[in-house]
Amino acid sequence: MSNKNPKNWGFATRAIHVGQEPDPISGATVPPIHFTSTYTQKSPGNHQGYEYSRSGNPTRENLEKNLASLEKGAAGASFASGSAATASLLHTLSPGDKVVAYADVYGGTFRMLKQVFEPLGLVPVFADDVSPETFSKLVDDKTKLVWLESPTNPMLRCLDIAAIAKIAHAAGARLAVDNTFATPALQLPLELGADYVVHSTTKYIGGHSDVIGGAVITKDAAHMERVAFYQNATGGVPGPMDCYLQQRGIKTLAIRMERHCQNATTVAKHLQRHPKLDAVIYPFLEDHPDHALAKKQMCGGGGMVSMVFSGGGDSAIKFCENLKVFSLAESLGGVESLACHPAIMTHASIPKEIREKRGVTDGLMRLSVGIEDITDLIADLDQAMAKA
Ligand SMILES: *Cc1c(COP(=O)(O)O)cnc(C)c1O
Repeated sequence: MSNKNPKNWGFATRAIHVGQEPDPISGATVPPIHFTSTYTQKSPGNHQGYEYSRSGNPTRENLEKNLASLEKGAAGASFASGSAATASLLHTLSPGDKVVAYADVYGGTFRMLKQVFEPLGLVPVFADDVSPETFSKLVDDKTKLVWLESPTNPMLRCLDIAAIAKIAHAAGARLAVDNTFATPALQLPLELGADYVVHSTTKYIGGHSDVIGGAVITKDAAHMERVAFYQNATGGVPGPMDCYLQQRGIKTLAIRMERHCQNATTVAKHLQRHPKLDAVIYPFLEDHPDHALAKKQMCGGGGMVSMVFSGGGDSAIKFCENLKVFSLAESLGGVESLACHPAIMTHASIPKEIREKRGVTDGLMRLSVGIEDITDLIADLDQAMAKA
């Protein structure tokens, strides 16, 4: 490689090489997995930078460097799950601090804000629509953090990261963006003004549905201090094997996202005017409510497609039961295509009335379009549709 400064490398090159230098001892091209809980010291306090693997492990550090580079951040911290990453970031706040979040955030994030951190004194407030104006009415001088996801789950609404960052900063608050759905291959929240990126690396970053993980990436190195403190102090760290699996997944992130976008676009367009559907939701379809914004802040529409059956729950369930290539399963972002019925599966804990107000009706289905041959995916959808 003639250009030795990774900052100048393209995304796919950084994904494959940052934090992945050959092992200095053996020359192993793929760095070894450091399965160790502890590190031998030469004399008390005389060590090589590692003392205990909750505090630091080379395999984890390689992954953290890599993730920071992909998100164009200053520093990264890896966690045992996306939820552990979210918890560590929320721990940096103090009782009385207000957090303004979009109402339709990931269910686990909503539950954590309401049932874990509100009882400890945080003040979560929820914006019930995506417009920056709504956020600007809720953000005040007590607000320390604004939290959003874009695109959202499962309605795939997009929120204006740059506009909401300005609103947060004007009030002295920071902006966290959960970038799980878009990934840094399609959207760079830190470049749009966010201070933190959060990931469930369980999804596209790991990409193979074989590992649970999470990460926080900060734009400012100083902001990582508190996050890293809670990572070590509360201990929600990933093991070295999990870090390795994520790292291995990341090496193909660029090419996977390309194919996820291609396949999802083809699926969305194919289903768009299907007589059994009332709506097909995909950010890069022209009739999507946030289409212009999606095109502005993402370089691909992503791999998720949602759709609404005219026949309601009965049609949706028949469709699910007849899928052969798509698996009926929760989660998303793996190489294999998944279908999910949010009202019964991922969003069952939300009261029906609130759920339906957000669009999560019994006729809604969410597809995580994988990277199989598109002809097989379309054929599978068509035959299941025929029975719906
Ligand atoms: C899955 C998910 C999470 C939670 O991550 P876990 O790894 O399951 O703890 C957070 N945010 C989004 C958008 C998710 O999809």
